[in-house]
Amino acid sequence: MEESSASHYDIQQDEKYGRYLVANKDLESGDLIFTDTPFAVGPKPGNPPLCLGCYNPVENSLCSRCGWPICGAECEASAAHAGECEVFANAKVRFQPVEDWTASTPQLDCITPLRMLLAKEKDPDRWHRDLEPMETHTEARKEKPAWAADQVNIADFLVDHCKLGSKYDKDLVQRVCGILEVNSVEIPSRGGFSVRAIYPRLAIAAHSCVPNIVHTIFQEDMVKVRATVPIKSGSALLLCYTHALSPTLVRRQYLLESKFFNCTCARCADPTELGTHLSTLKCTKCDNGVILSTDPLDNEAQWKCTDKNCEFKTSGAAVSKILAVVQAEIDQLDMMEPSPQAIEQREATLKKYKSVFHPRHSLLLNIKHALAQLYGRVEGYSIDELPDLMLERKAEFCKLVLQTLDVITPGDSRMRGMMLYELHAPIMFMARNEYSAGLITPEKLKERLQEPIQHLADAARILMREDPQSPEGITGQIAQQSMEQLKASLECL
Ligand SMILES: [Zn+2]
Ligand SMILES: [Zn+2]
Ligand SMILES: [Zn+2]
Ligand SMILES: [Zn+2]
Repeated sequence: MEESSASHYDIQQDEKYGRYLVANKDLESGDLIFTDTPFAVGPKPGNPPLCLGCYNPVENSLCSRCGWPICGAECEASAAHAGECEVFANAKVRFQPVEDWTASTPQLDCITPLRMLLAKEKDPDRWHRDLEPMETHTEARKEKPAWAADQVNIADFLVDHCKLGSKYDKDLVQRVCGILEVNSVEIPSRGGFSVRAIYPRLAIAAHSCVPNIVHTIFQEDMVKVRATVPIKSGSALLLCYTHALSPTLVRRQYLLESKFFNCTCARCADPTELGTHLSTLKCTKCDNGVILSTDPLDNEAQWKCTDKNCEFKTSGAAVSKILAVVQAEIDQLDMMEPSPQAIEQREATLKKYKSVFHPRHSLLLNIKHALAQLYGRVEGYSIDELPDLMLERKAEFCKLVLQTLDVITPGDSRMRGMMLYELHAPIMFMARNEYSAGLITPEKLKERLQEPIQHLADAARILMREDPQSPEGITGQIAQQSMEQLKASLECL
């Protein structure tokens, strides 16, 4: 039985991390450590106009009371929108018409800071206890262009235009912006669009590129934080603030720019990323070596071929540039609807960059991760019509992603659960195909089906901890049912 009021952590403080969380008892993989509710939730900066109730994109649809984007009557009356609705209606400040409703606008940037300020008024004790001590990196933020933009679009806007000067001063508004920038996390909204939320306890967890905890969002934006691996009492609870599969240069750049620190974790410090080769390039001058950074904790450091007889060298800046170019191509691919073209274009991109990147490089692995999910799921490539070669390809990609996850997010992560679910299918179909062709006996088939049964069991265990309405939670339930069906079918052999 799991207690919903679990609190298996203490807060500590030191020079390196500031405030951070440690386990206050020995934890097993999957143990619930604590739950948390958001102090405020709202749009991320630079969104296109979206409904302030449900966060789905809207076009020419405005709240009848305040004149800000709202999709309909239900969202107009929602608790999420009530606070700013009253402020805007009282001040008679309306959303300014936009020409392109799909283009990003800074107008909604003020919403989440305003919701923070309103929440502060509603719950001053929680603000004082949990939000007040949060890191804001004000001096570093002042150096960035975003500071001036926030001053105009958020501080001046709320204090002057929305006539909130009697309650809040501009320094407080900027502090709220800093708290959000440094401490908020992205979460999916019900419609699947990403928004940002501030969880006071989760925000204290320190970062590592090899985390030992994971957070899951439930109904009403409640968050559950679990151990992904066994954690000893007294050890730091470490959350990954970036995309786990991205390469060191990209992760460290993101952490420096948005979280204001240089990550020096073991993964960042190792040119091979703990042997995963997520950052490794192929040498174009020789066949023996690969190209690695000479100092991964310095983004400007040179990259060199590992072969002693090869002279090849390049700069960190040049590598960053290649990463950006190929990432832009992948972003285009990721915008495609699932279709045969989505498979074929990804295969073509893999071929195109085969000689540039290590086969397990982050960029190629991300394409392979997408293909692992597409094979078996789109027209012309449905699982029961895939030839064995393509079933093998799907299985190979799943295994490649899983091997990398073993190192960088060991234990029970969502991505592992989803990949195990994908992996069960090709293995099951290959075994069945061999049986139908008379190549293996019923006993051998039974034996071969133990592997997919185990993958389904593991996928169900991991994914059934997710919100039952989320894509992962639904996959977890399907995995559980498929496992029971597969076990039952073995009885009839
Ligand atoms: Zn809505
Ligand atoms: Zn309104
Ligand atoms: Zn790191
Ligand atoms: Zn070389």
